[in-house]
Amino acid sequence: MRVLIVEDEKRLAENIAAALRENGIATDLAHDGETGKHLAGFGHYDLVLLDLMLPGADGASVLKWIRARRDHTPVLILTAKDESQSIINLLNLGADDYLSKPFDLGELLARVKALIRRGKGVATPTVKLRDLEVDTMTKTVSRQGTLLDVSPTEYRILEYLLHKPHAVVSKRELLEHLYDFNWERHSNVIEAHISNLRKKLEANTGASYIQTYRGRGYRLSPEEMAMEP
Ligand code: CA
Repeated sequence: MRVLIVEDEKRLAENIAAALRENGIATDLAHDGETGKHLAGFGHYDLVLLDLMLPGADGASVLKWIRARRDHTPVLILTAKDESQSIINLLNLGADDYLSKPFDLGELLARVKALIRRGKGVATPTVKLRDLEVDTMTKTVSRQGTLLDVSPTEYRILEYLLHKPHAVVSKRELLEHLYDFNWERHSNVIEAHISNLRKKLEANTGASYIQTYRGRGYRLSPEEMAMEP
């Protein structure tokens, strides 16, 4: 998971980033509207946290710009204003949710996670992967009630693949979602994480959960996949 934070109050932006990182979400920061547009333009975020009052381009114009590009990345607005009219305008412009300052970081996290799930079309916190149950709230994987010993990084890899059930996900895309800047230096370890994850998921079942497409990436074996209603 990777979130773009566009917020000119640097201390607030850094507090938010720290809270997201503690929850396994990588972050990039922009402290003005133009930088926010530039980073959002790469289109590889799972969510954009967007402050309204920004130097350069304001939040509303950043939001308009994102949506004008037919980019449907979920956008959560952070607003110091509570005028209902401007909130309605923002929702009409394509914002997904908003939070008035000052807000509780716990509430922000809950909203962020819910929006990312909705953005990926996963509405329920529990996802079934054949005989495995992946609980996205507790970040655990279990088989018939027994927890598997999946590390936080392995869990994040699995969760990302679950969010893209029909896609072959490249190593680079996985790395960008797992790590902050300097993700290149983790390039060699991702294969080891995938290999360990695979062993833990497959553990004597003879089933194959993650397919490798040489030179292209990884995909969950589609026939193994069933979303809970
Ligand atoms: Ca501001």
